[in-house]
Amino acid sequence: MENEPIVVIKDKCVGCRLCIKSCPFGAITMQDKLAVIELAKCTLCGACVEICKFEAIEIRQPATVAVDLSAYRDVWIFAEQKDGHIQSITYELLGEGRKLADQLGMQLCAVLLGHQMTDRTAELIQRGADRVYLVDAPELAYFQDEPYAAVLIDLVRRHKPAIMLCGATTIGRSLVSRVAVTVKAGLTADCTGLAIDPETKNLLQTRPAFGGNIMATIITPRHRPQMATVRHKVMKEAVVDAKRQGETLIEKVTAEILKSRAQRVRFVPETETTTNIAEANIIVSGGRGLQAPENFAIVRELAEVLGAGVGSSRAAVDAGWIPYSHQVGQTGKTVCPKIYIACGISGQIQHLAGMSSADIIVAINKDPEAPIFRMATYGLVGDLFKLVPLLTREFKKVLKQ
Ligand SMILES: Cc1cc2nc3c(=O)[nH]c(=O)nc-3n(C[C@H](O)[C@H](O)[C@H](O)COP(=O)(O)OP(=O)(O)OC[C@H]3O[C@@H](n4cnc5c(N)ncnc54)[C@H](O)[C@@H]3O)c2cc1C
Repeated sequence: MENEPIVVIKDKCVGCRLCIKSCPFGAITMQDKLAVIELAKCTLCGACVEICKFEAIEIRQPATVAVDLSAYRDVWIFAEQKDGHIQSITYELLGEGRKLADQLGMQLCAVLLGHQMTDRTAELIQRGADRVYLVDAPELAYFQDEPYAAVLIDLVRRHKPAIMLCGATTIGRSLVSRVAVTVKAGLTADCTGLAIDPETKNLLQTRPAFGGNIMATIITPRHRPQMATVRHKVMKEAVVDAKRQGETLIEKVTAEILKSRAQRVRFVPETETTTNIAEANIIVSGGRGLQAPENFAIVRELAEVLGAGVGSSRAAVDAGWIPYSHQVGQTGKTVCPKIYIACGISGQIQHLAGMSSADIIVAINKDPEAPIFRMATYGLVGDLFKLVPLLTREFKKVLKQ
């Protein structure tokens, strides 16, 4: 009982049940007119503590070793590369990181791991980095969880950044969670907004919570670095300034750190995917309104004429009509194309979370009340089986294919 992180003080609890209603996780029950908290369900969110008029619930923070926050400086971003090419998420992180570093009066540093990457550091400096930490080794040519995480942990321990940002990509999510656990830093995943608290100078990390129905802002006041992954295509890319100067530090790591229990055998690209939708300027997306997997053909035809990527709602992915890599939304990809054409997609909040920042949204739906129309720039109410082929035909004519 003494070591439990949250306790009900028996003498104070009157069995009023207010805490039960306040708990979003259903972790509290009443037994013999006394609140009982199921620790497996409790997230220590504090809602019950706040609502209890009798101060009968207490969260007891475990004794932690105090971290000397002043020893941590600078804003770091992880510079993701694939086959030696810097990925666009890196430019987005540099753009956002630059703002944070300027507000804090700190340096913006990029961490680049790979093999024969020396030529690429200038790109990072031109996009806003003051310093690049480069670890160049054959073992780092391709992303591998163990050596990448071990190198990053080593760098974090030696240089002590105040903030560490990483893309919420497949690589970023896998990598940085390992780092956070090892350096005992905590991690806010999938942020869509970052800012600095003007008073405390803490990083304010904002992300959707409870199925996208609320935005939660999370702080890490007692631990460093403050670590976050950032959603792709939410932040603007840093612009290139060819005259920008910075320094590159070549970091050496031991052979032990570069060891991996897994080996890359070969890379097999997904044959279905034609355009990476996260990078596409135009996306034509299909949903449950398509009614059958073969009907994705009409979406693909329009996409082909427009040189667009093919997206989908989760309903279509869950039905097995199209692979997950096409899914747009909260649990799929966040996209930011110039034009997003939604065919037979209702526009639930989780789908909108992934595409609402598109410049132009065209919605095709037979239900005039479909929520997608509230977000759409242009709405076509009607049967997609008639409208989509019509658009394909007209675009073909206009684009003279
Ligand atoms: C935690 C969580 C995460 C989620 N993450 C995602 C996510 O990442 N992405 C996502 O998309 N969803 C996500 N969802 C699911 C989401 O809530 C919806 O269920 C999903 O987006 C619905 O897909 P849909 O619009 O294709 O299908 P529906 O909601 O069934 O809509 C189909 C639409 O097609 C229209 N239609 C039908 N026939 C025609 C026709 N002939 N012509 C024109 N229109 C027609 C209908 O009017 C309807 O509006 C998530 C849900 C949860 C709980």
